[in-house]
Order: sequence, then C-alpha cells, then structure tokens
Amino acid sequence: MKTLIFGEISKGSVREATLELVTLARRLGGDLVSVLAGSGIGAAAEELSKKGGGKVLAADDAALENYTSDAWTQVALRAIEAESPDLVLASNTPIGWDLAGKLAAALDAGIATDVVRIEEDGGDLVFIKRMFNAKFDARLRIEGSPRIATVQPGACEAYEGSDAGSVESLDASGVTSRTEFKELRTAAAGGHDLTKADLIVSGGRGLQKPENFEEVLKPLVEALGAQMGASRPVVDAGWLPHEYQVGSSGQIVAPKLYLAIGISGAIQHLVGMKNSNYIIAVNKDPDAPIFEVADLGVVADLFEIVPALTQAVSAAKG
Ligand SMILES: Cc1cc2nc3c(=O)[nH]c(=O)nc-3n(C[C@H](O)[C@H](O)[C@H](O)COP(=O)(O)OP(=O)(O)OC[C@H]3O[C@@H](n4cnc5c(N)ncnc54)[C@H](O)[C@@H]3O)c2cc1C
Repeated sequence: MKTLIFGEISKGSVREATLELVTLARRLGGDLVSVLAGSGIGAAAEELSKKGGGKVLAADDAALENYTSDAWTQVALRAIEAESPDLVLASNTPIGWDLAGKLAAALDAGIATDVVRIEEDGGDLVFIKRMFNAKFDARLRIEGSPRIATVQPGACEAYEGSDAGSVESLDASGVTSRTEFKELRTAAAGGHDLTKADLIVSGGRGLQKPENFEEVLKPLVEALGAQMGASRPVVDAGWLPHEYQVGSSGQIVAPKLYLAIGISGAIQHLVGMKNSNYIIAVNKDPDAPIFEVADLGVVADLFEIVPALTQAVSAAKG
C-alpha cells in the first residue's frame, strides 16, 4: 500500500489540513509520499519531511508560484506516474477539490470527495462521508487504482510525530498552463475578531430570518457580554458579515464558553469551535450532530429558550 498526499502551503508553511492527511495516511500504514508545488518552497518541503510527510517531492518552479489547475495537475501526474500510488489524497479545499477532480478525469480513476474517514476493510478501502447534515454516513468503495479522495479539513487531528523523511525534487520543467493567474484578493480584516473572544453566542439557520439575530440573539449576547458568531448559511445569506462566520472557511475560535443556537453541527462548523472550553447547544432536533460535541445540550425551541435565558442572565447580574 502506497499513499501519495498532495500537500498545500500557506504563508510559507505547510497547511494544517496537509498534516491531517499525514495522520490519515499513517493510520492506513504502508509507504507515504507527499507532493508540494510552488515557487521557493524549500523550507516548506523540509518542514513536511520532518513532520511525518515521508518522502517529499518538491516541484519548485516559478511557473508554479500561484495555483493553476493545468500546471499543478501536470506536476501531480508526473508524481503519480513516478510513484504508482494506490491512494491519492488531497484536502477538501478549493485547491484540493479542483486538482483531485482533474486528476480523476485524467487518470480515469474513481474519486470520493469530502470524506471524513478512511477504513481498511477486508483488504479494501472504505471512504466515509457524512450525508444529510451528518445524520448518515455513506460508505464508499472505489474500484481500480489509484483511488483518489479529498478529505474534509478538521476531520482528524494534524500529525504531531517527527518521523524524519526526505526531500527530493520533482521535475517541473516545461509545465504550462492555459489559465493565467491574475490576482489574489484577501478580504479586508474587520473589527470583529472572534479568535480572542472569551464568550461567543453563535446563531444558525434555525434563527430563520435576519431580524431574529437583532431581536432574539443580540439581547442574550449583550446580557452575557459576549461576541456574536454565526454559521455559514447566515453569512452566505448576507444576514451577517463574513467576519462573524465560525468554521473551516471562517474563524477558528476557542472561547471559554460557546453557545450554538439553532446550529446543526456540520463538520465544517465543528472544526471552527470544537476546541471551546465549554459548549452549550440549543437545538430542537435531539439528533442534531452539534450535541456530539456539546457539554450541555438543550433540546428545545430556541425562540422559547433564548429569551428565558436572557432574562435569567440579566436577573442574575442584577
Ligand atoms: C467547503 C465548505 C466549507 C464550509 N465552511 C463552513 C464554515 O466555515 N462554517 C459553517 O458554519 N458552515 C460551513 N459550511 C456549511 C456546513 O456544511 C453547513 O451547511 C452549515 O454549517 C449549516 O449551518 P446551520 O447549522 O446554521 O444550518 P442547518 O444545517 O440548516 O441547521 C439549522 C439547525 O437549526 C435547528 N433549528 C431550526 N429551528 C429551530 C428552533 N426553532 N429552535 C432550535 N433549533 C432549531 C435545526 O434543527 C437545525 O439543526 C461549509 C460547507 C462547505 C461545503
């Protein structure tokens, strides 16, 4: 069994999501090869080789400075041809899902996207992905080789061992792209920094409409002296700015107290708040996955509980 990881770099360092792939691959056992692409990536390649990435193939070329699916696919295909892996893993990130799909098409290989676990079963691999707000697990098998999968960031912990690997260069000469990178736009940093908050009250789609954030949730936020957070659908709908979003594509928070109000607990949300010291969840669905991480779960209608809680907090504060 040989696994090839396609890693990612952010601000010169190996991304946490890549180290999570290392954990997953090492649990499966066998040989491990990692590929990194970019320009001036020597330090990141060394870092990955020291953090368990096995043999790291570094495709270091000016043409790879910014991600383009054409150029990176060519590099990944070279690595796959050289290594003949049984399993190819990428993170379920914008780069990962773009690249993995192209690789699957180019190799006519089977792909499982957005998986949270991979299990060995009778000599075969089973790819597990969550369905219907994590109420069901789909168990997928892929025919042929290599099998390709993208893995949800946060689905397992980052590898923390220090097994020394090696770095080899991967030929990136002659790589071309029909896509031209124009610019990277980063959202301006807002004043709402949840990463430093001690108390966060987050609202989800269960609040039903934007007015309820103002009329139902905000009084509790103010009574507690907390900061307001939100799940992604709330932000996508334009009810609150992006800086309020908690989760894999929002802010990663670790307050002393996190209240999840009307939030189902999709893995992408859990990634952003599961390290909170104490989690209280209010949800009318007793099977909501948020209860799996909650220290205290309240199965109730938020429109009854939140005003009552606000009143109790205000009364306690005198
Ligand atoms: C690549 C990617 C990145 C993502 N990044 C993020 C991210 O960063 N953050 C994030 O949050 N999501 C993210 N998502 C979306 C995520 O998968 C979920 O869709 C989202 O978290 C669901 O938000 P929600 O819990 O508010 O809504 P829902 O899943 O619709 O849940 C609403 C909940 O409210 C409950 N409810 C309804 N009415 C009431 C009531 N009256 N009283 C009490 N409970 C009630 C329901 O039972 C339900 O559990 C991402 C998805 C993808 C694919």
